[in-house]
Amino acid sequence: MTTPRDDIGFDLPQIEPGWVWLTGAGPGDPGLLTLLALAGLKSADVIIYDALVSETILNAARPDVELIYAGKRGGKPSLKQPDISAKLVEQAKLGKKVLRLKGGDPFVFGRGGEEALALVEANIPFRLVPGVTAGIAGPAYAGIPVTHRDANHAVTFVTGHSAAGDVPDSVDWHAIAKTAPVIVLYMAMRHLGLITERLIAGGRDPQEPVALIAQATTADQKVVTTTLQGCSQSALVHEIKPPALVVIGKTVNLRDQLDWLRDLPDATRDTKPVGRQHPV
Ligand code: SAH
Repeated sequence: MTTPRDDIGFDLPQIEPGWVWLTGAGPGDPGLLTLLALAGLKSADVIIYDALVSETILNAARPDVELIYAGKRGGKPSLKQPDISAKLVEQAKLGKKVLRLKGGDPFVFGRGGEEALALVEANIPFRLVPGVTAGIAGPAYAGIPVTHRDANHAVTFVTGHSAAGDVPDSVDWHAIAKTAPVIVLYMAMRHLGLITERLIAGGRDPQEPVALIAQATTADQKVVTTTLQGCSQSALVHEIKPPALVVIGKTVNLRDQLDWLRDLPDATRDTKPVGRQHPV
């Protein structure tokens, strides 16, 4: 069930014609959408969405909305980054109310900055709607606090993937190994073996606890706990496929006590799709 705007006790803004809302859709569970993201979905004429945005979320849009797929998965035709930016500019110039919907948060490994810069360059007014990033919500849904008193005073978010598809050269893995008590890796599945080798070479304990979290916050969420040394092999054995996160550090052990999702009654677990689905 959705909460109609009139029922929430305050009025939310709507997308204005000719504007773009660069919006985070959260990590998967539609219940983690922000109210502003929902207001964007309800008011958009056109939605340009990524692979990580679920059909259930798109189902909240107006029935006559135009949906444009800009993702990079699933064998569907997709747009390249400059084409996406150009599409945003084009649609806004047509006077449409444009929702650019991205997984998680647009400014966290989401290329939201690039798109925002393209809008600035083209003089298109925009609003940034932050989303719940997978690197925080994923561990939370696995019962893993990313910070915990006495365990860590910092948490480090790292991408395991450069624009070219390699392990990013600009990441100093030795420095991270030495200074980051809890590490959350995005986009790390392809190079997990190499990354863990570098962290261990940088002084990390091979037995350190690791959680692999795939499809976090969705009904298909899969969590495997393992060790730094064993995680690459565990990912293979348990068929952990992207989108997945890797959490490295002491707080992973708290999952033993804090796996709240395990005990949640089925009826209250998922946000369920209702009624019509958009043809995506
Ligand atoms: N802007 C997004 C991240 C995009 S990069 C955010 O803030 O969450 C894509 C990577 O995010 C994936 O490769 C994966 O590492 C992570 N990710 C996104 N959604 C996820 C999910 N539901 N479960 C696990 N990992 C996810």
